[in-house]
Amino acid sequence: MTTILWIVLGAVLLGALQAGLRQLRMPEASCSWCTRVSGHTVTGHTVDTCQGPRIAEQQRADIDAAHQRDLKRCAEQLTERASRREAEKTRTDTRLRIEHIGTVTTRGHEIHITGWQFSALPYGVKAASSQTFGHRGRPEQTYGWSVQELHAMAHGGACRCDVVRLARTLH
Ligand SMILES: [Zn+2]
Ligand SMILES: [Zn+2]
Repeated sequence: MTTILWIVLGAVLLGALQAGLRQLRMPEASCSWCTRVSGHTVTGHTVDTCQGPRIAEQQRADIDAAHQRDLKRCAEQLTERASRREAEKTRTDTRLRIEHIGTVTTRGHEIHITGWQFSALPYGVKAASSQTFGHRGRPEQTYGWSVQELHAMAHGGACRCDVVRLARTLH
């Protein structure tokens, strides 16, 4: 009697187990991650084998890295601009005063700056003997004055003569 009871119980349990397994296997495998992000039921794989999270993580990492690069470039540009501004301030602060406006002309590929008088003395102080500086070659070294500035003083800001064209090639 007891044996029969066990056999019956075993059969019932086996049936239940098989039904349970069938229940598990029956619905097509679907991915909870893809289903969540797409808003549609995505079948064919499960979340355990899903490539989605890894790809999403990679994309996030790429965006973060690009952002970091942007920040770094931005900081470098700011530093470079600050040092350029500093150099420009030093130039304008230390350049000599112009006592007399001379000429700015071209000779072949050279810009000649002649007849100018510069003075290191502060405004209002007259030099005992005015010194005339002549200059040839690298005009940006003309006592803190750029060739564009000197040219504008000599010819006016609207002039577009050869000096302007040549000055663009000077560094
Ligand atoms: Zn998936
Ligand atoms: Zn000119």
